[in-house]
Amino acid sequence: MAENRILLLPGDGIGPEITKEALKVLKVIEKITNTSFEIKEALIGGQAIDDKGDPLPIETINELKQTNAVLLAAIGGYKWDNLPNEQKPEKGLLRLRKELDAFVNIRPAKVFSALADASTLKREVINGVDILVLRELTGGIYFGNPRGVSSINGESACLNTMIYKEEEIKRIVKCACEQAMKRSKKLCSVDKANVLEVSQFWRDITIQTVKNDYSEIELTHMYVDNAAMQLIRNPKQFDVIVTSNLFGDILSDESAMLTGSIGLLPSASIGDGSKPGIFEPVHGSAPDIAGQGKANPIAMILSLAMLLDNAFAMNKEAKLIQNAVEKVLKQGHRTSDIAEEGVTPISTSQMGDKIAETLIL
Ligand code: NAD
Repeated sequence: MAENRILLLPGDGIGPEITKEALKVLKVIEKITNTSFEIKEALIGGQAIDDKGDPLPIETINELKQTNAVLLAAIGGYKWDNLPNEQKPEKGLLRLRKELDAFVNIRPAKVFSALADASTLKREVINGVDILVLRELTGGIYFGNPRGVSSINGESACLNTMIYKEEEIKRIVKCACEQAMKRSKKLCSVDKANVLEVSQFWRDITIQTVKNDYSEIELTHMYVDNAAMQLIRNPKQFDVIVTSNLFGDILSDESAMLTGSIGLLPSASIGDGSKPGIFEPVHGSAPDIAGQGKANPIAMILSLAMLLDNAFAMNKEAKLIQNAVEKVLKQGHRTSDIAEEGVTPISTSQMGDKIAETLIL
């Protein structure tokens, strides 16, 4: 396989618009670094249902075997909302993660100083926040069996089961340690060990893993209810957080919203490195603004930065992109989702141009 292959999945709604802007940025990176990427495009989500009758068609699955990383925009839209669950665009995304054994979701929540006033929290609380949340993605209560409607002693009831195997915990804790080693070497594991046996097990395995393999890391533990409070009270105390699927689902959204806008947030879903990772904005396909040039392309552009860093060890180039975004925001350029009162917003494509231009300067 040739190196430097990226599979683009523009998907639905604003997906194709923001993908175009990420490509502009990638072109500049190619120029600056004298590298070239082989880019392929494939179908996922609603577009794939319309064209192939499947939200993750076999042609796309085949492309996954030929690539080093996947850059996904977003899927879904009103048109497909009434399909049965199994046939919905969202199923394509879940199957993609499964196909690539992506067991960890990494979400940075970094507050840009120029946008500190866009948060619902006070500037002094959030200015400088830079948190990385690692959420376990393929285990825990969302997948445990038995599940579903049942009956207990003749009375109707419903259940879900939270299960974690030792290996599932070890592999995500190791992943979190690797991230922490690149940052402040501080890791906070979030659980509910005072009530749940599975959480006590999570804590025991986490302690053992860090002690055995990452003795330089300063490991702390926090109960999930306290973590939810502390994220609002004093988010700057956190650097890297690692947690299970259910708690991570909630805490990663909470930490994301510290930054003020969903249009700014990238994410990565990765496995053990033997298969490509998926890099995508946290937001959805925003069908309410699709095709109007209003979408903020920053989350997609920062997802590209995460891709370059994680899949191609291009840390310097990822930083260049992050700095360019920061600079453009400092200059006062805003898409409509982040425009303060009295500021005339620029379009999706103008924002992409500004970031690409700033990269060359
Ligand atoms: P959404 O994230 O698409 O939109 C929520 C709100 O944020 C909307 O008002 C939208 O206009 C705004 N928004 C989102 N991204 C933006 C951007 N880049 N710039 C400016 N504004 C932005 O969530 P939703 O409305 O709940 O879902 C819409 C569709 O997206 C649904 O079909 C849903 O299933 C799908 N979805 C997909 C993903 C994904 O692809 N990973 C994630 C979440 C939702």
